[in-house]
Amino acid sequence: VIMMGQAEHSVITTCAYCGVGCGFKAEMKGQEVVRMVPWKDGQANRGHSCVKGRFAWGYATHKERVLKPMIRKHITDPWKEVSWDEAIGYAAAEFRRIQEEHGRDAVGGITSSRCTNEETWLVQKLVRAAFGTNNVDTCARVCHSPTGYGLKQTLGESAGTQTFDSVMHTDVVIVMGANPSSGHPVFASRLKRRLRQGARLIVIDPRRIELVSSPHIKADFHLQVRPGTNTALLSSLAHVIATEGLIDEAFVAARCEAKSFKEWRDFVSLPENSPEAMEEITGVPAQSVRGAARLYATGGNGSIYYGLGVTEHSQGSTTVMAIANLAMATGNVGREGVGVNPLRGQNNVQGSCDMGSFPHELPGYRHISDDAVRGEFERDWGVTLQPEPGLRIPNMFEAALAGSFKGLYCQGEDIVQSDPNTQHVAASLAAMECIVVQDLFLNETAKYAHVFLPGSSFLEKDGTFTNAERRISRVRKVMAPKNGKSDWEVTVALSNALGYPMNYRHPGEIMDEIARLTPTFAGVTYDKLDKLGSLQWPCNGEAPEGTPIMHIDEFVRGKGRFMITKYVPTDERSTRRFPLLLTTGRILSQYNVGAQTRRTPNVVWHGEDLLELHPQDAEDRGVRDGDWVGVQSRAGETVLRATLTDRVQPGVVYTTFHFPESGANVVTTDSSDWATNCPEYKVTAVQVTRVSQP
Ligand code: SF4
Repeated sequence: VIMMGQAEHSVITTCAYCGVGCGFKAEMKGQEVVRMVPWKDGQANRGHSCVKGRFAWGYATHKERVLKPMIRKHITDPWKEVSWDEAIGYAAAEFRRIQEEHGRDAVGGITSSRCTNEETWLVQKLVRAAFGTNNVDTCARVCHSPTGYGLKQTLGESAGTQTFDSVMHTDVVIVMGANPSSGHPVFASRLKRRLRQGARLIVIDPRRIELVSSPHIKADFHLQVRPGTNTALLSSLAHVIATEGLIDEAFVAARCEAKSFKEWRDFVSLPENSPEAMEEITGVPAQSVRGAARLYATGGNGSIYYGLGVTEHSQGSTTVMAIANLAMATGNVGREGVGVNPLRGQNNVQGSCDMGSFPHELPGYRHISDDAVRGEFERDWGVTLQPEPGLRIPNMFEAALAGSFKGLYCQGEDIVQSDPNTQHVAASLAAMECIVVQDLFLNETAKYAHVFLPGSSFLEKDGTFTNAERRISRVRKVMAPKNGKSDWEVTVALSNALGYPMNYRHPGEIMDEIARLTPTFAGVTYDKLDKLGSLQWPCNGEAPEGTPIMHIDEFVRGKGRFMITKYVPTDERSTRRFPLLLTTGRILSQYNVGAQTRRTPNVVWHGEDLLELHPQDAEDRGVRDGDWVGVQSRAGETVLRATLTDRVQPGVVYTTFHFPESGANVVTTDSSDWATNCPEYKVTAVQVTRVSQP
């Protein structure tokens, strides 16, 4: 731990890593952070933290940070340091040139779930008002976009239903496709406390995660589902509930659409959805499915927590809807201790979606084709907005290769390392004429950029993040921006250079605009956040101090809607050529593509991505523990070091994606969710062979 002496003052702010959104007290000596102390009054963490938030802030002052704007005409040219004015003027001129030569829709922007709500708001506003297109998307496209779609269809709102505190009132917990011990550690410790008090646990995961069996905790059921068959497994759970008389008939009659419920009940009751019929597909013994279904439906308050192991599939949206169906059928929505709870990976995934970063939705999840809503924005912003949805990120890549998309403003996302099928992404970026990257470091995407605008870390900015429980918390500037400008000021300058003036003196004024134009944020102000510590949206006239639990008396959409969620096999099935299924996850000490955690030298970090391989599969291939192995898929090939473990089942391999040199996304394919294009990172058919050291 870096200890620089006694603190002189402290500033309360919010962790910039995962979607738990822990509050921290940054203890300062002048412009230097002495230590980060978990804030005891933080409503998401109540004085707790994990190793990342507590210790991994050193990247903010890392020597590799780029602090000067840079431009270059061709991506093979060396970078040239220039003034802010020159860089922004060059970017604006290039975007306008492209639009004149190739049309208004030849440019677009990507917002970041790492940035604040205010910064995200400005980027989508710039794209819509200054570029005049709806080609704006967010990195949430590649993680929780199915959550937004699935929960909106069924419950009426694209967000989790509870607070983290709610878990202390639960009796039965389903954790599905998530590994909270590594991904959401502070929530995991609260969950474990409840489990030690006697709550029951069902884990649905292809891998034996720590929660399945750890000191003092043992899951009642581990449904070790085969990757790609989540929807089939949920259908079999629903079959048991529907055919064994376990439905909460009173709740369903009072709260849900009768027609959709009847159709759903008829569907899940079909013999083909029984656990016995599905066993062949899911690999999960029917008796375990029956036991787990009975436990969830009859064990008291039942809550479901899920992560990217649910969403990052070709049926990601279907699976989210199947989860909501289960919760409604058993009456497990609308009170303490129950609910549907997406565990968001990044600090502001929820916020970046709330802020209208989607090509089809204005802030607050309102469709761009809605004339009345669009009219409100047009009057406030003084522009005409396009009524047609724009391009999603994968569509931008395709359009670039087709020659119709030429310019991209990318704030705070390393799309080359984080998006699937790296070769395809790289080829798309290489086909563009002006890429503006705004980031802390020269990341993999910057290799294809023409303009680099230095970004600022969370320690250098004011604003808000919204965590996985819809909790809006203040981010406060603890030091002056090392690059001379906060990220929001850069977007404002770019918009002004494009000829669409933006005038804000402080991010608080951006929040005032958000509140003015977004009904779920109507009651949010910085003053109120300072006074109350945080606010969970919806926060408006009806709920001036926010809404901890949603859907209490009725669903946001009125009656809850059951959706038919038929299992459709993914194309990523094991074949003779690619007989194993690769799935991915995280480790505790690293964060996503590792841009920050790999640059934090003050803790001993795990140093490489490993391939977990079952001993039986290893023996078949002559692989020993520690050997280097080639991993081939239909997209590409990478090399990793093997570790042999029975945490994975035979036929399944697993790795993490924190290090660019291991390149997990070189092998992931462009298979994606049917509704949202969220990539199918969690299932890739691969072959593994022993190779000599790379
Ligand atoms: Fe930060 Fe998440 Fe760790 Fe909390 S649990 S300190 S938000 S990384």
